[in-house]
Amino acid sequence: MTDAGKWYDVVVIGAGLAGLVATHKILGAGRTVLCVEARDRVGGRTLSIETDTGTIDLGASWYWSNEPRIHSLLQRLGLGSFPQSLAGDALFDTGQEGAQRLNGNPIDSPSLRFARGAQSLPLELASLLPEGSLALNEPVEAITVNEDSAQVVTRTRRLKAGRVVLAVPPALAAASIQFTPALPDDVRALAESTPVWMGGMVKAVAVYRTPFWRRHGLSGSAISHAGPFREFHDHSGPDGSPAAIFGFAPSSGLVQGENSVIADAFRDQLVRMFGVDASDPAKIHVTDWSAEPYTQPSRQLGANTSSYGHRLFRRPIYGRIHWASTETAPSYAGHLEGAATAGILAAQATAENEDALRGNPAPLVRP
Ligand SMILES: Cc1cc2nc3c(=O)[nH]c(=O)nc-3n(C[C@H](O)[C@H](O)[C@H](O)COP(=O)(O)OP(=O)(O)OC[C@H]3O[C@@H](n4cnc5c(N)ncnc54)[C@H](O)[C@@H]3O)c2cc1C
Repeated sequence: MTDAGKWYDVVVIGAGLAGLVATHKILGAGRTVLCVEARDRVGGRTLSIETDTGTIDLGASWYWSNEPRIHSLLQRLGLGSFPQSLAGDALFDTGQEGAQRLNGNPIDSPSLRFARGAQSLPLELASLLPEGSLALNEPVEAITVNEDSAQVVTRTRRLKAGRVVLAVPPALAAASIQFTPALPDDVRALAESTPVWMGGMVKAVAVYRTPFWRRHGLSGSAISHAGPFREFHDHSGPDGSPAAIFGFAPSSGLVQGENSVIADAFRDQLVRMFGVDASDPAKIHVTDWSAEPYTQPSRQLGANTSSYGHRLFRRPIYGRIHWASTETAPSYAGHLEGAATAGILAAQATAENEDALRGNPAPLVRP
């Protein structure tokens, strides 16, 4: 293992939205920072892909008008948006007598979509970072807090820093990173019991040649109690291109690693609800987020989100480690807005008690 031998004021772990927002904030305050990311891409739970007819989202896709930080990020980055298509009737599928047509669309609330996909936000943030401040393909394996610094061990090197921002879902950090000293008992229990938002879900997107459901006065939204996919939404581009519908299914109802089987189940449900026009999609894209080792720990997690934004997430661990994933945000936890909020708060926290920590022992007392 090579020892980088270089001191960073802050090492940020994870280049999802939270980690990248934190990295920019820390750089903006004139401090040295390195953001280390396990995957070969930035964006974490945002994943946008280009199809022949436009962009689709296999992770997050919406934001809402009451989310100020996402609005401001889009404005500053010069990224466009468009309203989620809501017009038409929704469907309710009990499996008893086929899908029931509802009067209007009570399923969707007004929301906005990202013109170039949700991943355009982290991609733009990453592209604006100075060279040398982002490292991909570097999963962090261990963090050690010493008297005078924190050491972050990745697969290939050992980094030395004053502070660490942990922009990784808490349950994943507790399961996959070795902490020395060990995480305090209350912090470990909290992290382990905090589910990864949407980490147990499969998202499938069916791309069609035309948004045929609109011709029949349907919105593309549906709730189903008759198959693995529970909810469906129009996922078409601003002018109906690409024409697409997406669905969410809990991964517990599906076989991991069988994406073609999952795609078939998705298409069968679409045909049951939307008719024969749905039987011939140009392509079905499937992402099982529960099988992503840098999103969801292998251990089964509960579904109780009451620990989101817990006050313990605001307390630095051993004076040097700060939480920053969306689950830790005091507001909008789970959403992209929560990730941006958590990134900003963590960056601010890394500047607190700076002098006390520089060259002085960190308080190695349990918080
Ligand atoms: C299917 C799906 C649909 C969603 N829909 C919406 C939506 O419509 N609107 C909305 O607001 N939110 C939505 N979300 C939630 C949204 O995606 C998240 O709130 C947001 O992306 C979380 O950002 P984050 O930076 O906190 O975490 P993440 O995006 O999970 O980023 C964590 C990063 O840490 C990296 N990492 C993990 N372990 C390590 C390690 N050991 N070393 C280094 N790096 C590591 C990961 O690779 C990842 O890049 C959805 C999520 C999913 C999965």
